[in-house]
Amino acid sequence: MKTFAYLSAPDVATAVSAIATEPGAKFLGGGTNLVDLMREGVERPDTVIDITRLPLTGIEELPDGGVRIGALVRNSHLAANQVIRSRYPVLSQAILTGASAQLRNMATVGGNLLQRTRCLYFYDSAAACNKRVPGSGCDALDGFNRSGAILGASESCVATHPSDMAVALVALDAVVEVESVRGTRRIPLADFHRLPGETPEVETSLAADELITAVELPPLPLAATSRYRKVRDRASYAFALVSVAAALEVADGTVTGVRLALGGVAAKPWRALEAERVLLGAPATEESFLRAAEAELAPAVGRSQNEFKIELAQRAIVATLRQLLTEGGAA
Ligand code: SF4
Repeated sequence: MKTFAYLSAPDVATAVSAIATEPGAKFLGGGTNLVDLMREGVERPDTVIDITRLPLTGIEELPDGGVRIGALVRNSHLAANQVIRSRYPVLSQAILTGASAQLRNMATVGGNLLQRTRCLYFYDSAAACNKRVPGSGCDALDGFNRSGAILGASESCVATHPSDMAVALVALDAVVEVESVRGTRRIPLADFHRLPGETPEVETSLAADELITAVELPPLPLAATSRYRKVRDRASYAFALVSVAAALEVADGTVTGVRLALGGVAAKPWRALEAERVLLGAPATEESFLRAAEAELAPAVGRSQNEFKIELAQRAIVATLRQLLTEGGAA
């Protein structure tokens, strides 16, 4: 059996310099399902750098009204934080719909962002999978693709990103802070994950020597009225077929502010910019909500088993906006 080197980094400087000199490094504390993938033989890192001792566990209110969340904040800790629950309830709700309580107690913000798709063929070394072995094909195209992407997919890959938390973060205009020996870089979450194109094995804009250190939420007063809706095959411990993160601001019957994102539909958390464009300035009515949902899903393409997700996504958008309009947000 192949062995690998194990390094435990006490601080960020040590971690980033170790990453810089270990180009094949993978992050035991930075990729929620990396250990699963190592067990299955899908990932075979030469070196694993344990970053769980790094001092990145704070949730800090910023002077401008935003919030800075350390990359090693546990998901359960973040979901329970009172500032998050009151100012960004969609984020708290999204986290609580994901995984199990035990997993949320261990999973971190950085790890959540870097988790890999749960496409069955990605885990099956006997299957063709361009993401696992570039150029080998994609058995999901005509195989089990019920959970596959309907937006932004390619003939190379139709996998979806599994995170709920990231869907809320992209709706909130979150920014990812990363560190390397070259310094600090800030990446809008909307640009952090990539669509597959011809290179589905390249999943993020993170360089090989960069470490996620924090996620920042900008001040966003309308996020106090926000919700997360997750549609899935069973009530707990299941990935989204479709999910919606939404925030809505209405004045005198008109939409004056809106944020909308979809999960379970693409290789990245999908910011619904077209729906937002249709909604802004429109009457806050069921008709506007439906028009916006149809506009967002207009370019969607279904496969043999997931065509139903197009209408499901439209209905989920309308239902979430209706609930925000009639009941407001929820902590
Ligand atoms: Fe691999 Fe993507 Fe095809 Fe799944 S959808 S088999 S992850 S290439």
